[in-house]
Amino acid sequence: MLLFIVTHGDAQPNAVKQIAPGVWFREGDIQHEGHCNNVIIEMSDHLVVVDANFPSGARRVIEDARKLSSKPIKFVFDTHHHGDHAYGNPVWTKMGAVTIATSGVAEELKRYEPKRWLDTAKSRKDVAELNLNTAEPPMKTFTKSPYVMEDSTRRLELHFFGWAHTRGDGFAYLPKEKIMCTGDAIVNGHYNYTADGNIGNWPSVIAKAQKFDVQHVLPGHVPDGGKEVMSGQAQFFVELRRAVEQASKGGKKLDDLVTLKDGRVTATSVQLPEAVKNWVGGSFPVQVRDAYNEMAQHKPSGDLPH
Ligand SMILES: [Zn+2]
Repeated sequence: MLLFIVTHGDAQPNAVKQIAPGVWFREGDIQHEGHCNNVIIEMSDHLVVVDANFPSGARRVIEDARKLSSKPIKFVFDTHHHGDHAYGNPVWTKMGAVTIATSGVAEELKRYEPKRWLDTAKSRKDVAELNLNTAEPPMKTFTKSPYVMEDSTRRLELHFFGWAHTRGDGFAYLPKEKIMCTGDAIVNGHYNYTADGNIGNWPSVIAKAQKFDVQHVLPGHVPDGGKEVMSGQAQFFVELRRAVEQASKGGKKLDDLVTLKDGRVTATSVQLPEAVKNWVGGSFPVQVRDAYNEMAQHKPSGDLPH
């Protein structure tokens, strides 16, 4: 007999957990399938899903949502433009749902597609099988934040707090339930992808989210948590920028901070304090490079979208 003791913070890929009555958190299997997490929110006569996931992830979520409720899925909120959060859009719209996102998500898709879609289709069957030439943009976008969905049972606010993980990062907030769904602007672990991010601005975006009354943080990857996930993530980026800034002020160049092997960043001499170790993992050398390049103005930084 196997006995599993699940403690708070343990990864549980593909598990669906009720966070509040009518609000479920589904942890995606990032390791084997590259899936993001999803949140299923029950309104009076329909469901809202946070993130479209990859096509194969979307199908998993639809399957699970059907077990939870017979109400139709009416809206799917893309928290940002990345494939693991938005490439499933055609799956949802085909079944009659409306995909929605900040206007920044549509702008990011214009900026980076169709190149990423076509590249991803080479390695992902679920993307290739859709037989499309590019990513499907959200059907509906909003610029005025928050965009509010409200009925007799629940209020759901879709927020934009600025450029952190991407220029279009959206947050979904449930004020009554004190739940903040953060996409990849806040992740609970070493899954920060910084290539399209703004490391310098990231903590200030999190600070805006921290002003809300929050008990549950439902991140875009790995387990849910409390407010400590927000402060930990913010602290990670503060420490990362501080460490790289200090090193570069001390005369260090990028070559001194990271090791390049066959064009890939493989290691770094930068070390961060123990307090943020949950956020330091395999991508850390790349994050150091991105932080350095951002400060050296070799990548866009500091400018918020208009
Ligand atoms: Zn993601």
